[in-house]
Amino acid sequence: QSAIAIDSLSKTYAGGKLALDQVSFDVPRGQIFGLLGPNGAGKSTLINILAGLVNKTGGSASIWGFDIDAHPRNAKAAIGIVNQEILFDPFFTPSETLEIQAGLYGVPKRDRRTGELLAAMGLADKANAYARTLSGGMKRRLMVAKAMVHAPPVLVLDEPTAGVDIELRQQLWNYVRALNRAGTTVVLTTHYLEEAEELCDRIAIINHGRLIANEPTRDLVGKA
Ligand code: ADP
Ligand code: ADP
Repeated sequence: QSAIAIDSLSKTYAGGKLALDQVSFDVPRGQIFGLLGPNGAGKSTLINILAGLVNKTGGSASIWGFDIDAHPRNAKAAIGIVNQEILFDPFFTPSETLEIQAGLYGVPKRDRRTGELLAAMGLADKANAYARTLSGGMKRRLMVAKAMVHAPPVLVLDEPTAGVDIELRQQLWNYVRALNRAGTTVVLTTHYLEEAEELCDRIAIINHGRLIANEPTRDLVGKA
């Protein structure tokens, strides 16, 4: 069974813009999967549909076997999403930020692994510092930790390294790889081909809302 199954997914925004045109693909469980495409291709629209932030106009999608229409809460609980914006209160500590998130998701106190999660993201030393004092790279890692608080089987990162320098990018990739090795299926969107090549087992390419490729990375790179 797939981590994510997308079937003939379409989105027309109010105003008439066709952002997704009958896109179909599956994300296999256990992989790092790249959704590649230029700005405006429809990547964020697709992620936002999975996140329940945008309503699709056609087709269907399921996450970890849960249809996003029939079982929206189960589908949502199966993914952690890292958006491009840094979203947390700068006057809470990383530890508090994760506890609040755990509360929002109803994770029982005894099942919370917020300390472990912060350590896994290289934030153990900053667990009790105001989030506003974190470096840019640390803030992004806190966003990843926040997305993983409810232990979803799938982590989705929307342009995780847009505007990030190469050193921080490499660092973030290493953390993402570690989460994947620990069993998390990872989906990331990017417009950097090298990023997708280096990190992903499989790459789907969308352009103008249409799927134009979906192959194991080594096959795609072999053709280029
Ligand atoms: P709402 O969903 O309440 O309409 P939005 O902020 O999504 O509010 O959109 C407001 C208007 O701006 C909409 O008419 C939409 O078509 C347009 N719009 C928003 N984001 C974009 C975008 N990325 N590209 C083009 N138009 C956009
Ligand atoms: P990407 O993430 O690949 O850059 P998006 O999904 O953000 O692409 O955008 C796909 C297309 O849909 C673009 O043409 C964009 O301008 C348009 N779009 C995105 N959001 C809205 C909106 N709220 N209203 C109207 N058009 C939008």
